[in-house]
Amino acid sequence: MTFYDFNFNEQLMEGIQSMGYRTPTPIQQQTIPVILNHKDLIACAQTGTGKTASYLLPILQHIATSDRKHVSALILAPTRELALQIDQLAEGIAYFTGLSSIAVYGGGDGMVFEQQRKAMIDGVDIIIATPGRLLAHLSSDSVQLNHLEYLVLDEADRMLDMGFYDDIMKVISMLPARRQTLLFSATMPPKIRTLANRILHQPEEINIAISQPASGIDQQAYLTFDEQKIPLIEHLLKGASYASILIFASRKDKVKELEKTLRKLHIKAKAFHSDLDQQERQEILLEFKNRSLPVIIGTDVLSRGIDIEGIDLVVNFDVPPDPEDYIHRIGRTARAETTGTAITFINERDQRRFAAIEALIGREITKIALPEELGTGPEYNPVRKRGGDNRKKKKNWHKKKPAHRKQDKPK
Ligand code: AMP
Repeated sequence: MTFYDFNFNEQLMEGIQSMGYRTPTPIQQQTIPVILNHKDLIACAQTGTGKTASYLLPILQHIATSDRKHVSALILAPTRELALQIDQLAEGIAYFTGLSSIAVYGGGDGMVFEQQRKAMIDGVDIIIATPGRLLAHLSSDSVQLNHLEYLVLDEADRMLDMGFYDDIMKVISMLPARRQTLLFSATMPPKIRTLANRILHQPEEINIAISQPASGIDQQAYLTFDEQKIPLIEHLLKGASYASILIFASRKDKVKELEKTLRKLHIKAKAFHSDLDQQERQEILLEFKNRSLPVIIGTDVLSRGIDIEGIDLVVNFDVPPDPEDYIHRIGRTARAETTGTAITFINERDQRRFAAIEALIGREITKIALPEELGTGPEYNPVRKRGGDNRKKKKNWHKKKPAHRKQDKPK
C-alpha cells in the first residue's frame, strides 16, 4: 500500500513527501480509509505508530476539498507538549495546502491567552487544544465551534487520568451533534469504553497491537541495588556511543538529584519536570533535538507527547509504578520503524512492578549481568514479598515466643 492509494490531493501528497513518509504505517493503512469514509472511530494505538498523521491526513484532505469558513476540526490533547507536537506535524503535512492550525494550551501569561484568542478570531481551520484552556476561550467567546465537523480525542486515556472528563464533556456540549468523532487511546480501560459510548456514533474499531512496545526496541534490564545505579549509568553513558538519551525517574526530586549527580560526572544532562516554565521546557527540548544536549532526565511528564526522532537509548532509572507508563517511556525510542534500546534498572523493591510489566507485554525481558567491577545485583525473584517469604513466617507465627515475634514481624 502507498499513500497514492488514498487519492489525497496533490498539495497533501507534497506535504507527505516533504515529511519523508514513504509508506503508510499499519495504523495509517487501517485508519485513513475509515476516516475518509466519514465513520466515527475508536482506535487503540500507542505513540510512535504514526497515529497522529493517521487522523491528520484524512481530516486535512476533507477540509482542503470543502468550503471552509469556520473552524473545521478540533483536536483535544492532554498536555501542551502533545498539543504543540500535533500542531507542528499538522503544519508540516499541511504546508502546501494553505490550511492553518493553532495549538491552544494552558500556562503562560495573559499575553499568551490574548495571542491565542486573536489567532482564533482571525480564523484557523484546526484547533489543537488542552481541554481546560479551550473551555476558558469558549467561555470568553473568542472562538465559535458551532460549525465544527471533526473532533479528535488524542491520548484519551491520559486525559481521563488527568481528570479532564468534565471539561471534555463541557466542550462537547458546545459542538454540533452532527460531526465525525475520532477517539485515540493507548489503552482501553472501561472508562474509555464508557466515554466512547457517550460520544461516538456507531464507531469502527481499530486495534493496533494493544499496549505493545514497537518491535524495533531492544528491551533490556539490570538487577541492581540502589547504590549500584549511578556507577551503572556512568558505565552505560560513557562506555557506549549513544547520542540521544532519555533517563526516566518516577519522582521530580529524584530527577533533580540525578541532574546534579550526572553533571558532577561530567555528563551533560538537564532535568525536565513540571517546575520548569514552558519556555525552559522548550529550550531543553530544542537543545536535545539539535543534539547539543545528549541527555534529558525526566519524570513521566516526558514519557508522553515528546516527539523527537533518533533517541537511541531510554533508561528507566526506576521501574514506573504503572506498567503502561513503561510502554510510554520506552516508546520514546524506536519511533516510526527505527530501532533503539530501552534499559530498566530494577532494585529489590521494584521487582514485582517489573513482573507486572512483563505480564502486560507478554514476555520476559532479558536481564543483563552487571559489569564485573560493580559486583552482583539482587536476584530476580518477583513473587517473593518484601522482607522474605512472609507466608512461611505467618504459618509458624503461633510457635514463636513473644520476644521473637516482634523481631520477625513481616515489614
Ligand atoms: P506518532 O505515533 O503520531 O507520535 O508518530 C511518530 C513519528 O512517526 C512522528 O515523528 C511522525 O512524523 C512519524 N511518522 C508518521 N507516519 C509516518 C510514516 N508513514 N512514515 C514514516 N514516519 C512516519
